[in-house]
Amino acid sequence: MKTNFLLQATASAGVEALTARELRDLGMENVRIDDRSRVFFEGTAREIAQANLWLRTADRVKLVVSEFKARDFETLFDAIYALDWEAYLPLGAKFPIYKAKTVKSQLHNEPAIQAIAKKAIVKKMQHVYHRPENVTLQENGPLFNIEIAIHKDMVTLTIDTTGDSLFKRGYRTEHGGAPIKENMAAAILLMTNWFANPTRAFVDPTCGSGTFCIEAAMLALHIAPGQNRDFAFTSWPWIGKNELEALKKEAQSLVRADKTLDITGYDSDPKMIAIARNNTLAAGLENVIQYKQMRLQDFESEKLDGVLVSNPPYGERLLEKEEAQKLYREMGETFRRLETWSKYILTSSESFEALYGAKADKKRKLYNGTLRTDLYQYFGKRIKTN
Ligand code: SAH
Repeated sequence: MKTNFLLQATASAGVEALTARELRDLGMENVRIDDRSRVFFEGTAREIAQANLWLRTADRVKLVVSEFKARDFETLFDAIYALDWEAYLPLGAKFPIYKAKTVKSQLHNEPAIQAIAKKAIVKKMQHVYHRPENVTLQENGPLFNIEIAIHKDMVTLTIDTTGDSLFKRGYRTEHGGAPIKENMAAAILLMTNWFANPTRAFVDPTCGSGTFCIEAAMLALHIAPGQNRDFAFTSWPWIGKNELEALKKEAQSLVRADKTLDITGYDSDPKMIAIARNNTLAAGLENVIQYKQMRLQDFESEKLDGVLVSNPPYGERLLEKEEAQKLYREMGETFRRLETWSKYILTSSESFEALYGAKADKKRKLYNGTLRTDLYQYFGKRIKTN
């Protein structure tokens, strides 16, 4: 068995640098972002478990088996056959080539690439495990999802260690029509200035299923995002469940349960408030987050220096465009009074600033699923301290 692996953490476009920062903060080795915005790092079985358990902003963690050039099927077959698959796949492993994608490459027939890759690995497994070639290789054991990506003739073979994407934390049992992914919510929170001092007031005035509030609480209390879920690697004989269980136990002892937070979610829709409450209960945070049914137009606060994060309807998916425009105008009027608060608003509307009535201090392009959006950032006025 190998002990050190080249690993890749995938993340949504625009989030890669945050994922790399998270990996560095976790103490991972040789963290780097390549010229195609791919985030790589190195680690042992323990780090595979650790990255899956702790990464808040990533989609998944993949094990990089190899990278090599191939412009024809023969080269592809031979190169895949030559790899030490037995270092990863035990006899009986289920190993679908679940994804093949090619970009600007000689080899472009994805189903054919999938079939060749499968054939090469099957043949190698039959050889190393002394199985006859004329008998189908049994695949009834642990699952190893293999992906083959070819970019400008450079082939990358990876095995997914994650299983269900990392945005699935396990607490969101229900959501409304337009939820934000948990890992994107976490990434946005890491872009705000709230995290530096999370005892400040935090408000999501359009909280929907509660994603921002829950992620904020988890972040501030240092709760591992993967604490309540399983990963693909736990069924692999060379990592297993023990590594994860030990890390989860350690994570439990790191939770800062005594920290006092001020997190509130509002939504005009009582159904969403009920859903947010349920999800918060599932996350075990019912004593940490407050919810209230209220229109954002009615929001006011005497508190200073708070942070407001909102993912309002875009007028594309939920409200009609005109309604969204009206809402953005009213948002501007309501939030303007909160002079010392910092506001972060995610929307796909390109006329947001005009409607809101103020130019953002900073804008950041992000993808909410496949939808191109901007995070409009308005920084609060500094409180004078004499
Ligand atoms: N981030 C949320 C989704 C937000 S969708 C999640 O992850 O689930 C936008 C939400 O804004 C919807 O739940 C909708 O009910 C709410 N909303 C629409 N108009 C509103 C208003 N005027 N005041 C408060 N909430 C509003």
